[in-house]
Amino acid sequence: MTETLFNKILIANRGEIAVRIIRACKELGISTVAIYSEVDQNSLHVKLADEAICVGPATPSKSYLNIPSIIAACEVTGAEAIHPGYGFLSENADFSDVCEANNIVFIGASARCINMMGNKSEAKKTMKSLSVPIVPGSEGVVSDLATLKEIAKETGYPLLLKASAGGGGRGMRIVHQESELESAYNMAHNEAISAFGNGDIYVEKFIENPRHIEIQVLSDKSGHAIYLGERECSIQRRHQKLIEEAPSPIITEEMRKKMGEAAIKAASGINYEGAGTVEFLVDNKSNFYFMEMNTRIQVEHPVTEMITGIDLVKEQIRIAYTKKLTLTQDDVSFNGHAMEFRINAEDYKNNFMPSPGTVDLFLPPGGKGVRTDSFIYPGFKIPTNYDSLIGKLIVWGKDRSETIQRANRALEEFVIDGVITVIPFHQKVLKHDAFIKGEFDTHFVDQYIDDLI
Ligand code: ADP
Ligand code: ADP
Ligand code: MG
Repeated sequence: MTETLFNKILIANRGEIAVRIIRACKELGISTVAIYSEVDQNSLHVKLADEAICVGPATPSKSYLNIPSIIAACEVTGAEAIHPGYGFLSENADFSDVCEANNIVFIGASARCINMMGNKSEAKKTMKSLSVPIVPGSEGVVSDLATLKEIAKETGYPLLLKASAGGGGRGMRIVHQESELESAYNMAHNEAISAFGNGDIYVEKFIENPRHIEIQVLSDKSGHAIYLGERECSIQRRHQKLIEEAPSPIITEEMRKKMGEAAIKAASGINYEGAGTVEFLVDNKSNFYFMEMNTRIQVEHPVTEMITGIDLVKEQIRIAYTKKLTLTQDDVSFNGHAMEFRINAEDYKNNFMPSPGTVDLFLPPGGKGVRTDSFIYPGFKIPTNYDSLIGKLIVWGKDRSETIQRANRALEEFVIDGVITVIPFHQKVLKHDAFIKGEFDTHFVDQYIDDLI
């Protein structure tokens, strides 16, 4: 029995996520159109798609962010829908609108939801009104120093200055005492203007030793939403995730339900459509606070797929086509444990500096419970213009300890020659006592860096 879905989808992305989406389309009997930049001509997503169109030169603003070019590629090929993946145009409200105006289905959030959640300080206001607990701090943007000082007195130190338009771990500055406030604010403001084209800054209490725990949701416009459990994402460097796992070693069934219900409140409260992630910080007393909502598929979505058996990309496509989420909370159950290791081409001994180059040998691991999502192959030249993520290793086991054993085995098998990768770093994390015990927070990497390099 084949379901009625789109005939053809254009994938407005590159790298492993483009490959991931093409795979889902193929299984659903949907034709695929890849787009690529001049340097990505030999990328795997181009080879795997049914059709491929060059949309411009390497610079993202001229290719993967080039809206007129991408819409034209859609029209030329007759694709009915666009999947934006993550990054690039996935959280661009204008793009979502332009697709709609051209009768192309955007497999992602509406411009309305992207706008509501994309501005992080506004998103917190919305969440507060829905009675979702938020990180204490300013009510919205702080635009002058006097107000900032007032708020800082209430919030206390240390505090974080965050860019409303921030993302990808950038646009945050910690302030330890009042004397640092003015210069930190000016720097944060200027950095935000140059990085995001928007200098708005808001204030958050700096939660000490928090864990980053997020909830995956699926939702439709009618307000029907379900949660697919949590992902523990505390193993980070520079506020960017390196290892994710599900379930979290600290989350009890009771807390999962509480956080899941808060995430549902967030999604259904804004009539969210599609797959989304509600990110929380959890303090050492198990209080959880809304941090932001990502209105797209996330890099680490496979760990949720491994323990629920639900294909999140297929569900995104189904919701976009039918406008309905047919799954109910009762369809979600959890089986075993999964971990994802981001394979970055980075010199982890040198502050995780990107280390692109040409891949000589590529031997991904296999066997039971092992999934490798990647787009590289022997002879592939990694372009310098994009993210350093060259693959993801996802491992499933019946419980956390089997997952760790299997991950050790899989990482040992994994051969990538020609470029420096973080594989040896992951192997050290897996052998670290605090990681094995599940006793860590977002500072784990910084705290133990000497043991890990
Ligand atoms: P998460 O999905 O957990 O939020 P990240 O924030 O690390 O994980 O990943 C999303 C970010 O990755 C984007 O905001 C962007 O900075 C970067 N990115 C953009 N495009 C790509 C891409 N094609 N491949 C990898 N990373 C990308
Ligand atoms: P981004 O949009 O870049 O993903 P987030 O707001 O999700 O930014 O924060 C990224 C990371 O920064 C978190 O996972 C956490 O490690 C850290 N962080 C953010 N806000 C706070 C806070 N108030 N206190 C402590 N750490 C924080
Ligand atoms: Mg985030």
